[in-house]
Amino acid sequence: MILSNDLVFLDTETTGLTMDHDIWEIAMAVGESPVWSVQVPHSLRNADKKALELNGYFKRFLGLDYVIHLADIDMPLWLEGKTIVGANPSFDMYRLEKRWGRQTWHYRMVDVESMALPVFDLDKPVGLKGLVDRLQGLGYDVPENDHSAAGDVETTRCVYRLLRELGRERK
Ligand SMILES: [Mg+2]
Repeated sequence: MILSNDLVFLDTETTGLTMDHDIWEIAMAVGESPVWSVQVPHSLRNADKKALELNGYFKRFLGLDYVIHLADIDMPLWLEGKTIVGANPSFDMYRLEKRWGRQTWHYRMVDVESMALPVFDLDKPVGLKGLVDRLQGLGYDVPENDHSAAGDVETTRCVYRLLRELGRERK
């Protein structure tokens, strides 16, 4: 299965779970293309230490001298009209819309966590890790979601592909 360039797999890492928290890392991949990841300007005001530990901030953040300011100008243009594919993408895209002051991507998005409900007979989402575990349990090779934006994009793309293939097999 060749993934369309209309699809953009995307994930962000944040300083916490509320709207008061900032995005500090964004990764995306267009269709089959390599994952592109940047660390962006952010504040640690209100930061949730547990969230920062989970997403590797203390190990991986390169420092404010290395954040890419242009990403906030370029990325909304790259996403223009694209269909976002993510694990619970509304979390990321609400925050990006707030950050950028506009929504350039298509108003319909794909959530792999919802895609998986009928496949695994679930009544509610189990998170990306829950999907990785279930797919690995079926014998598929799925990269662990490592809570880096880039790693989670790779995992999300793999999960999307496998769920599409499982749907196709059922027909
Ligand atoms: Mg992530």
